Amino acid sequence: MAEISVQLLILGSGPAGCTAAIYGARAGIQTVVLAGPVPGGQLTQTDIIENFPGVGAISGFELTSQMREQAESMGAEFVEDIAISADLKKHEIVLDGGDTYKYNSLIIATGATAKYLGLENEDELKGYGISTCATCDGFFYRNKTVAVVGGGNSAVEEALYLSKIAKKVYLIHRKNTLRAESALQKRLLSNEKISPIWSSKVVKYIGSPTKGGLTSVILENIIDNSQSSLDIDGIFIAIGHNPNTEIFKDQLDLDEKGFIKPIEKGSPKTNVKDVYVAGDVQEILCRQAITAAAGGCRAAMAVIADQN
Ligand code: NDP
Repeated sequence: MAEISVQLLILGSGPAGCTAAIYGARAGIQTVVLAGPVPGGQLTQTDIIENFPGVGAISGFELTSQMREQAESMGAEFVEDIAISADLKKHEIVLDGGDTYKYNSLIIATGATAKYLGLENEDELKGYGISTCATCDGFFYRNKTVAVVGGGNSAVEEALYLSKIAKKVYLIHRKNTLRAESALQKRLLSNEKISPIWSSKVVKYIGSPTKGGLTSVILENIIDNSQSSLDIDGIFIAIGHNPNTEIFKDQLDLDEKGFIKPIEKGSPKTNVKDVYVAGDVQEILCRQAITAAAGGCRAAMAVIADQN
């Protein structure tokens, strides 16, 4: 069980973590990236990315692999392990493998995990009709029929975005009123392509990855428990995200959902000295690879300024 001291420790190897590593290592700072439980982050679950400038169409796995290679070529070291505890006062992170890392600066880029419904065969249909990102996967449903689950801002924005691509969009919500802000609600309710299905929940996915993916869902009306079938080509689950901040509880300013609160909006600094934040682990409106990368850049630039 070694104790290792580094100048900059980055938790998370998605676009935020990799970009921070590129900037940190390139500035001559000794940089170690802890790859975490999903090396490459959420992006690796995206089939094709077409909106990251400069690289054309690329798989999420390929894009984060390239980011990692670029960071390694600058001198950053990647460690395949998971942080299991943190003592931010002592500048210490303990890894699952038993090693302890001491850092001068820490960038938390551990991301967030999209919530799913937790139904049978959901995992096998991810990428075969089930998605949590319309901006990433909506393109594949041109002139098709899709559904969005949820009633918050994300669900409404996803439905509006999909209405520009798909032939028909259903918004399935468990209540009969939306939580989304009123301007978004008005746009949704006046959109002829979108039909809300109120007071309903999805109770079953029908389809198989080997037979064309998702083909329909079974809905249950939560008022009278009646069930019905809805034929769709794809479904977008937009019921929120869980931030990966478990080990920082009680040590950092977090909001009520557990997202890290920076000292001020847009700042990469947290309320703890030498601890910075980047990417989806803070509450942000835009969950895109390019914005996460920008956050990684901002965090590393702050580290570089503070270490000099
Ligand atoms: P929210 O937590 O705001 O909404 C989640 C929605 O999903 C709710 O309608 C909730 O239903 C529903 N839901 C939760 N769990 C389930 C479940 N198991 N089954 C079915 N439905 C479920 O999350 P969002 O991602 O929409 O937004 C997160 C934050 O980001 C918010 O603060 C939001 O305002 C902000 N945001 C802002 C945007 C903007 O300003 N343009 C864009 C996107 C997000 P119920 O209502 O019944 O609880």
